[in-house]
Amino acid sequence: MSGPVSSVDTPPEQREPDSPAPPCAEVFDDREAKVGNITVRRALPWRGRRTVGAWCFADHMGPEQVDDDNGGLDIGPHPHIGLHTVTWLVDGALLHRDSLGSEQEIRPGQLNLMTAGHGVVHAEEMVRTYRGALQGVQLWVAQPESTRDGAAAFEHHAELPAADLDNGSAVVLIGSLAGATSNARRDTEIVGAEITVRRGGAVVPIRADFEHALVVIDGEVVVGESVVRPGQLGYVGMGRDELPLSSQDGARLLLLGGVPFGDPIVMWWNFVARTKEEMAQARTQWATEDERFGSVDTALARIPAPPAL
Ligand code: MN
Repeated sequence: MSGPVSSVDTPPEQREPDSPAPPCAEVFDDREAKVGNITVRRALPWRGRRTVGAWCFADHMGPEQVDDDNGGLDIGPHPHIGLHTVTWLVDGALLHRDSLGSEQEIRPGQLNLMTAGHGVVHAEEMVRTYRGALQGVQLWVAQPESTRDGAAAFEHHAELPAADLDNGSAVVLIGSLAGATSNARRDTEIVGAEITVRRGGAVVPIRADFEHALVVIDGEVVVGESVVRPGQLGYVGMGRDELPLSSQDGARLLLLGGVPFGDPIVMWWNFVARTKEEMAQARTQWATEDERFGSVDTALARIPAPPAL
């Protein structure tokens, strides 16, 4: 999954609403977008909610059936700067390749974490023999000033720590939750976890100095009086140390959180930066096949940058 964003999705103005008073959620409806041939539901960013901690992008892809007629997802080589890509599969399999020479198949329950830094290129393709459901979430994390111009990197985590919750469970992708800590790299104070809420509801212990949001994958959860459904973003703000999630029939969701990201970011296409000038330079360097981005060993065609900023 790759999730190029357009300037329509992410206007450059900064307009952050105040955190809601607990316990409630501010719910942002999803928008559909196309990534390759697949329809995705974009939960983040929003005009009024551009970041949650350093999390700056969330696409929920599928579920979709991959068969002989529907080949699923093939995203040709495209560049990134200034962000980490976090790939989380619910169903299916994908093959990641990048300009560092990485070639890594990912399955549900595993984490692919790519750091773009100054620049990286990657491609995502189907595992050709795979038939069945494909569903996942593609996330981006904005890098802080200290690493955003640094080296690119790639990590695959085949196993992640799990924790029991009150009437639920968690798999920790990044950061710490309920006593479990992931080994995955993080450049700022963030958490990302998949939460399974059993019938009736669960309570999730969280950090009061983090803001948090929910991206529901299956089922519905109720926070205060707000219902959060698949594809939506339920923003729950800061200042509480536990998050009660009601769910009549149970649910699965991603919990994203972190210390509010201090730097004003600019997002355009596949780039996270601080100024339009940086964007324009990266765009030109991709268009002219500058050595900044390198190349990926794949049969898929390179994706051209959109024409204008
Ligand atoms: Mn990508």
